[in-house]
Amino acid sequence: MRHALHRLPGFEPRHAAACRACATITPSRSIHLEAALVTRRLLILLVLAAGLAAVCALTWTLAWKSGIDSLRRDAAVRGDRTTAALKSTLERYESLPYIVGEHPLVQDVLANPKREWVLAANRYLEDVNRHARATTTYIIGADGECIAASNWRDPDSFVGVQYRFRPYFIDAAKGGVGRFFAIGTISHDPGYYLSQPVRREGKIVGVVVVKLNLEWFPGTDPTEPLLVTDDHGVIFLSSVPAWKYRTVRPLPADILASIDETQQYARQTIAPLPAHVERVLEGDADIVRIGRGLRAPRYLETRRALGEPDWHLVTMSPVGPVVDAARSVTVMTGFGYVSLCLLGFYWRQRRARVNEMMKSRAMLQKAYAMLNERVAERTADLSQANEQLQREVHERARAEAELRAAQDELIQASKLAALGQMAAGITHELNQPLAALRSFSDNTRVFLERGQYEAAHENLEAIGSLTERMGKIVNQLKLFVGRARPRSLRSPVAGALRNALALLGKRLAGVSVTLTLTDRTDAADAASVAFDPHRGHAELVAQCDDLRLEQVLINLIGNALDAVADVPSPRIAIDIEVQAATLAIGVRDNGPGIPDDVMPRLFEPFFTTKEMGQGMGLGLAISSSIARDCGGSLAAQNEPGGGARFVLTLRRAQVSAARVPAADV
Ligand code: ADP
Repeated sequence: MRHALHRLPGFEPRHAAACRACATITPSRSIHLEAALVTRRLLILLVLAAGLAAVCALTWTLAWKSGIDSLRRDAAVRGDRTTAALKSTLERYESLPYIVGEHPLVQDVLANPKREWVLAANRYLEDVNRHARATTTYIIGADGECIAASNWRDPDSFVGVQYRFRPYFIDAAKGGVGRFFAIGTISHDPGYYLSQPVRREGKIVGVVVVKLNLEWFPGTDPTEPLLVTDDHGVIFLSSVPAWKYRTVRPLPADILASIDETQQYARQTIAPLPAHVERVLEGDADIVRIGRGLRAPRYLETRRALGEPDWHLVTMSPVGPVVDAARSVTVMTGFGYVSLCLLGFYWRQRRARVNEMMKSRAMLQKAYAMLNERVAERTADLSQANEQLQREVHERARAEAELRAAQDELIQASKLAALGQMAAGITHELNQPLAALRSFSDNTRVFLERGQYEAAHENLEAIGSLTERMGKIVNQLKLFVGRARPRSLRSPVAGALRNALALLGKRLAGVSVTLTLTDRTDAADAASVAFDPHRGHAELVAQCDDLRLEQVLINLIGNALDAVADVPSPRIAIDIEVQAATLAIGVRDNGPGIPDDVMPRLFEPFFTTKEMGQGMGLGLAISSSIARDCGGSLAAQNEPGGGARFVLTLRRAQVSAARVPAADV
């Protein structure tokens, strides 16, 4: 289907390149255009997909980094808090063994472990331990055997136990400070051991040990594990109980052996955690996955040294929330990007549509302008033609006016001619009654002289009718010769016929004249009846001036009389046919008919076949002109049975009841 724009006058073939609807015009060109379009779209899609990947990657990286930074800050705060708490606890107890060692009772019992002194030392240690809120406080002799202990009353008392192998005894016996975390060999409870040598007269005579329970320390929140590792990396404090006595990294065999030797963690198996370092971050931090499989939890591991003792505090922060947050932000950004792309695509489409609309509008405007130009050109032509037509109409109106004037003149001339023609007849017509009048009046005088009054009376009546007839002849003549009076457009047909017949009365003598009326207003009943012009028929009124109608009838009947002049039994038939809107008056004779060469020229003015003085050739021309003036027509034809028939057709005038004359029509 072709684009609607192609049908516009302003559309040019070059516009088809930008129009997809033109694909049907040239198939090869269409395939080329389609391929280029598909490639372009694929390229755009690829670029957009690459953009989406880049935006998502960047968002993920930034969100991840920000999340990890936040985790690190939280871990640092936690680490600071925990370190401070642990250090303050350890420092509080740091000097307690020394103070206990300085007590004379302790020094005495180490020098001489008498029974009553041991008892006194036990009570003293019990008292100190209770007040210091330590776990156990005890004194070890120079040979490594415990002499007195705060738990001397308990069944698992330390008194008499050998501690020569314990590092904290070895360190203190050497004159240093012993710091050691281990599981107790007797109590099997883990604890932190602080030891100081006891000097008497400059010589080390024993060791005082304070054991502290640190199990409270890491807290109990397993979601954010907090660990403390010893100098070998063994976890001895952990908020996740299962990780206790495990290592973050696998330990070398010699270290494992030394741990075993000192019974530091009793019979606990020291095994590494199933930890896998995924990424090493700057500043003693890693991302580790603890456990196997992808669903194993991942943590941000941060480490810090606690100093003396040589421990490390390890914080584990779950990375899951950071991953979730980064994923959410990335997905949202991705959606945002896709939404922006769709928005851009929509905007582009819209702009293309607007551009196309603008182009179409411009094209339409151009076409409209062209159309206007063409209309203007045509209008100019039409205006010229109109002016020409108006000039012609004016010319024709003028010619018609001239013709009408000429016709009027001709009518007048024809009347005068007819008057001349009639003059002889009229003279004869009047001479005859005048002679009769003369003889009637002579006879009447004789009858009166003789006293024959009845005969005289009859003669006088005859004289009266003769004068009446003469008056009528004169009146007709006066009417005929006079100029057209103001036209009445209603002419009773019966009256006009009557006058015409009366005027031609003398010539009609010896001619058979029949008058018939056929009423075709009612199709069912169209029989012809005899027509008597002296009686009624007030409904037969033609739209024509009455004198003119009379004149036409006189012409037609006069011509018929001329035609039958030499015929043995002359006949004239006048038939009136009435329709709803028209009436036709036919005048038929049984004359020789109209010769073929005469027929075309019948209505020409001054055309006549009659002898000089007999006719002027104006009768039919005037009659036809009158018929046209009245909105009717006059036609002639030869009858099959011989003779000519002239038909005058006129419009019927509406007859109002008030206008119908009663009798005299
Ligand atoms: P005019 O009677 O003066 O000749 P018309 O115009 O009345 O002029 O008639 C023109 C001609 O038409 C006549 O000369 C005659 O030849 C012919 N014509 C008219 N009426 C008849 C008729 N009834 N029969 C035969 N010819 C006729």
